[in-house]
Order: sequence, then C-alpha cells, then structure tokens
Amino acid sequence: MSEMRYISTRGGMDPIGFQDAVMCGLAPDGGLIIPASIPNISDKLDAWSELSYCDLAFEVTRLYTDMPEDDLRSIINKAYSTFRHPNVCPTVKAGPVHILELFHGPTLAFKDVALQWLGGLFEYILGKRGGHINILAATSGDTGSAAIHGVRGKDGITIFVMHPKGRVSPTQEKQMTSVLDDNVFNLAVEGTFDDCQTIMKNIFCDVEFKKEHAMGAVNSVNWARVLAQIVYYFYAGLQMRKTGTDNLRFSVPTGNFGDVLAGWYAKQMGLPVEELILATNENDILSRFFNSGVYSAADVVPTLSPSMDIQVASNFERYLYYLLDCDADKLRTAMNDFEENGRLSVPLTDGKVDPLFSAGVGNTASTMEVIKRYQKEYGYLLDPHTAVGVSVSEKLGLDGAPVICLATAHPAKFGQAIIDATGEDLGHHPILDALEDAETHCSDIAADEQTIAQYVADHT
Ligand SMILES: *Cc1c(COP(=O)(O)O)cnc(C)c1O
Repeated sequence: MSEMRYISTRGGMDPIGFQDAVMCGLAPDGGLIIPASIPNISDKLDAWSELSYCDLAFEVTRLYTDMPEDDLRSIINKAYSTFRHPNVCPTVKAGPVHILELFHGPTLAFKDVALQWLGGLFEYILGKRGGHINILAATSGDTGSAAIHGVRGKDGITIFVMHPKGRVSPTQEKQMTSVLDDNVFNLAVEGTFDDCQTIMKNIFCDVEFKKEHAMGAVNSVNWARVLAQIVYYFYAGLQMRKTGTDNLRFSVPTGNFGDVLAGWYAKQMGLPVEELILATNENDILSRFFNSGVYSAADVVPTLSPSMDIQVASNFERYLYYLLDCDADKLRTAMNDFEENGRLSVPLTDGKVDPLFSAGVGNTASTMEVIKRYQKEYGYLLDPHTAVGVSVSEKLGLDGAPVICLATAHPAKFGQAIIDATGEDLGHHPILDALEDAETHCSDIAADEQTIAQYVADHT
C-alpha cells in the first residue's frame, strides 16, 4: 500500500488519497488530479521484465494506490480476465514496425485497458464505502462503449454517456446503444464531441449539482485511467529491451493526450524512452503545439479516425503543468489565457517544446495508403487510428531504435474505412458481426447543459 497523495494542477485542493482521487475525477478547483510525486523504478527494470501483464500491473499500480495488496491484485486480475489474449496486450511485428495490440478487451479498443480496471475500482470503493455513483461521460466513440462495458450491471453505479449524434461510427454507436442494462443511459447530443466535453466540464464545475447527484467521471481525465495505461508501456518496452535495445520509441495516435501522457509518466518513472512520436489526424492542435509551442484551437473536422477528432485535449493540462515547472500559478494563467483567447504558448528550445516528443499529422490519404500497403505487403490489417501512428512514424523516419506503434482499435470497428482503403471488406470480428441485428436504446438530446443536467437529475 502506498502513501501517495494527489494534488490539483491548479493548486486549489488539499492533498487526497488514491481512492478519493478516483471518485472525484476532476479536482474541485477545475484542475486535473496528479500524483504529488512520481516514483522512480530504474533499478527494477530487469526484475520487471520477467513479469506477466497482471503482475506488472500490480507492481506499477501499487506505487500509486492505497488499497490492501490482495484487493489490488484481485481488481487487476478480474479486469484483465476479460481480455481475449493470454498476454493481455501483446506486441507483434508488422514489416518495419512493432505493433502493440491494445484491443483485445471487450469493446476491441485500447480504452478497455483503463476502463475494465476503473469499473472494478468503482465497484470496490463503493462496496467499501457504501453509496451510489452517477457517472457522466462524453465520448467521441470508443470511450463510451468501453465505459459502458466497464460498469454495465454493476451495483451502485448508473452511467450516462453523451456522444455527438451521427459523428461516431455505426459500429461504435451499436456497441453503446445495444447495452440494455438498467444502469446505462445513452444520449445522442446534437453537437460535436467538444460540445459534449464542455457540457460535462460545466456540469462537474457545478459543485452543488455534483454533490447532490453524486456525480463521477470515467473520462480520460480520471487519474486511474492514465495509471492503467502506464503499465503497457512498461510491458512492451521491457520486452523490447530484453532483445538488446536500451532506446525505446513509441508511436502514439493521439486525441485527448491520455495515452501518450501515460508514456510520458513511464519515462519519468525510469523506462528508457528515447522518443514519443505523437501522431494526430487533421485535427492537429497537439502536433502543431509540439512543433511550434502554440496551442490554439481550430474547428473539428471529421476524419477516418473519429476517436481522434478532438481539438481541445482534456489531458493536456497535466503535461502542461509539468512543462511549466509544476507551478500551479503559471498553469492557471496559461489555461485562463486559453479559455479567454483560444490560444496559449510556451517557449521553444532548439525549435522544440520538448526533446522527448516528435509530432506529425497523418492525413486521410496517407492513412488509407498505409492501411492498404501494410495489408498487402505484410498481411497486417491496421485500423485507421493505428494507421495514423504508423504513417507519422514512417514520415519522421524509422532508422535507429525500433518503433513500437500503439494499436488502439481492432480494424473491424472501422469496417467502412477498411473497405475504402483496401477495396475489400476485410475488417470483421465475430463480436461485432453479432451486433448487427441487436436491439438498441438511446435518447436524442439538445447540446444544452441545462437540458442534460435535468435529464440526469430525472434519471438518478
Ligand atoms: C481514444 C482513442 C485514441 C486517442 O487516445 P487519447 O488518449 O485520447 O489520446 C486513439 N485511438 C482510438 C481507437 C481511441 O479510441
């Protein structure tokens, strides 16, 4: 059991323990919750290389959590028993890159890694403390279904998931709306993902409402999610290191900056990461930021990789906090700037924001080209999100240390994109094929905070 305390990036929260941090989601001052320190485990790399996925998850998470070790172990084992691969997150070779497959969970996307664990944590904490929690989530597709599958049928939990109407893939929509458990409410919001996210932030900032309705979050701002994702960087990285390289490179298709942030934490903990390749689609606020120091929002455009169709990255604030010397005053000023002017900037050193990060854009044409070529030449079918990461890593150059590309979804989730790219209907998975005729349940709703708060109040 660790004594780790958690603080807010905006400096307005007394330190709290892990379980409180999980239940809070966002800090009451509007900031993001971060650990007060980052443990360094450089001396454990060799020992950790020999561990199974679940044992490694135990070693990583015990540094940050405050439950008895037997309880922690059983939450982890239960969470990853839902995965269909014995190694949970295996790495395979595809042509010139290594693919870290994060999609063997119940909804076939990497968000299961975090949300199967988070669902179990909620159940555990509520079981100890008693009470009920109402989860509100905003999703651009994968989060929603992974969150729903993480908590469906669990006692003490009701979940409301907002998705931008008509802007998630038909498969993603089915994966959410076909879950008919009484504790699951799907809301199709007439707006963009950013609208959904803003509504959620505002509802959570209403401290009275949040308290009265015991609101909690599962969105990528929940620290427990980032924590679960740190594990697979160690798992894949340490296997690669055993083959004799000490310089690890990861390529990460990025939307809300949650996945790649976990890689940043892994590096701070002592994993020898030489480079994090941040890959965006045309919604490129983050790649522009790392190449120019300017973080400025633009309109969201729909792409082949809808889970990355995001302009305001909810986890970015955590990274910015560290970049601004862990100075909550500086962070608040920067975020206020961004909220007022849609823009903030940081200084560059040698033309870069951070020597650890390289960043680039994989546009629609190169995404399709990569899907087609990897299928044809290497017999490996990439989903469009993963293809964005592969495309950017190729563009930035594959010479040097091996590149581990994070595969964030199974290609079957984006069957139409696979047809468009390859000309063949190759993206299938029995679980998804079975959804075709499933009964669904979902309510259309205006992109209006008041209306949505009322809906939640009426259904809790
Ligand atoms: C959510 C998601 C991403 C982006 O992850 P972030 O943590 O938001 O950067 C990429 N690919 C898929 C398939 C996703 O579901």
